[in-house]
This record gives sequence, C-alpha cells and structure tokens, in this order.
Amino acid sequence: MSCKNLNSCLLSVSLQKNVRVPSVVKVGAPENWEAILKGIKNMRLSGEAPVDTMGCEKAGSCLPPKEKRFAVLISTMMSSQTKDEVTHAAVERLSEKGLLDPDAIVRTDEATLANLIKPVGFYQRKANFIKEASKICLEHFGGDIPSSLNELLALKGVGPKMAHLVMSIAWKNTQGICVDTHVHRISNRLGWVFREGTKQKTTTPEQTRMSLEKWLPKDEWEPINPLLVGFGQTICTPLRPKCDLCGINNKLRARQAAAGVALRGMQPRRRNTGDQRMEAPCCLRP
Ligand code: SF4
Repeated sequence: MSCKNLNSCLLSVSLQKNVRVPSVVKVGAPENWEAILKGIKNMRLSGEAPVDTMGCEKAGSCLPPKEKRFAVLISTMMSSQTKDEVTHAAVERLSEKGLLDPDAIVRTDEATLANLIKPVGFYQRKANFIKEASKICLEHFGGDIPSSLNELLALKGVGPKMAHLVMSIAWKNTQGICVDTHVHRISNRLGWVFREGTKQKTTTPEQTRMSLEKWLPKDEWEPINPLLVGFGQTICTPLRPKCDLCGINNKLRARQAAAGVALRGMQPRRRNTGDQRMEAPCCLRP
C-alpha cells in the first residue's frame, strides 16, 4: 500500500472510530534534528548575518511584484561563488542605472553590464547569461520571469540551487530545498544527509538536497536555506566553526564541564588533506 493510500485509510478509520491517527514517521530523519533545528533558530533570532539584509530574498524589495521577481532572478544568478555583500552591491548598481528590467538589460552592451556587476564571481560569463535570460523573459514570458522549475532550469547559468531559490522567493512556490555551500556543509557536519543507500557523506549539493528532502518536513524547505546560510556565515563557518559560541553545543559544554577541557580542542577539524569532504563531523551528530 502506498503512503498516500495508507494515510487516507488511517484518516477514514479515524473519522469512523474517533481514534488518533499516528503521524507517519519519515524514514531517515536524524533522531535529534528537531532540537538542533530549534537551537539554530534561536541563534539566528538576532538577524545579524549578511544573508539577513543582503541575501537574494532582499533584492528589489521596494519594487512591484513583477520587477521584484526579475531582481530576485538577476540577484540569484549573480550570487554563486560570490559573497552576499558583493551581490547586493551589484544589484544596487544595476538598480541605480535602471537595469533591473529585462528590456533595459537587452539594450545594454555586455561589456558595460560586466563592468557594472564586477567584482561578482565570473562576472563576464554572468553578464552574458543575464543578457540571454533577459531576452528570454521578454520574448517568452512578457517581461516576467519563468514560473516553473523546468523553465528556470532552461536558462543558461541557472542550476537547481538557483531555480529552487527563485521558485521559493519570487513565486512563493517551494518545490525543493535550495542547497548552497553552507546548507551542504552544515547538513553533512550534523549527520543529516547521506549518499543514497549508504552512510557516507554527500559529495554534491544535489545529493544533499535529495537526502534532506526525504525527511525534512516541507514547511521547513524554504526557511532552511536562509537559516543555515546565516548560521554558516556567523557561527558554523567553513574553516573554524565557532563551536564555543554554538548554542546547540550542550553535549560539548557538558563534556567540557565534566572534563575541564577547552572547547577549541573538540571542534571539527580538517585533516591534512585540506579536502573539505574529509572534515571531521560535528560533535552533535547522533
Ligand atoms: S560544528 Fe560547531 S558550530 Fe557547527 S553545529 Fe557543530 S558544534 Fe555548532
């Protein structure tokens, strides 16, 4: 019997006999994920991470809906391999020149566009992608952006991470988790994701997305990105995570108190290979 049929069956039995429907347990959910997620949410309440004020979600926030959607698409296309501060500043420069508009971008030559968005990572290639995307928006979508995942993925320079982010924030239609480098790293540190059929860490953001989506409740799919991005920008940083400041680090603190040892020595450490995938896991892993 499929889960869907099982749920309908349980609901029907519940209505007939007034019994409590057991919630369906998601296979593969890590045992302590809810407590850890709550702890991360508490740490993120201050809203001090760059993503909180300069993330793609904030692009074109003063513009009407159609223009805002275009600003979100352009900001997202510039954001890969680029810090939020740099992307945000590039969006501001485009806005000042009246270029958060597909028609205006198509009429601007590529070199000028590239100079305006510099020092965004791969700015020359991205200028080309942005011009092509603008043309497609004008010719096929009446100047708006594509409203489906597949149409977004058909744009050059737009991968799954960007397409899911645009669907979530521009169209409020979340169809998958946007997994960037922070979500990928932290999910692996916490032991939340595994390669299909193994207990091995995931090696690509796509593997992480698919693994997370198997157990994370859908109402967390959209907020998990800015939540973990901000956590990764401020505390669970790539090179030296600030475990001594980590509010979910209770196990570690208890061990520290019991053993009188310094927290620093128990942080996840890279092995000498320098390969991020070889990084030791977080002490909070179940
Ligand atoms: S690696 Fe450190 S900062 Fe990151 S979740 Fe674990 S204890 Fe917290």
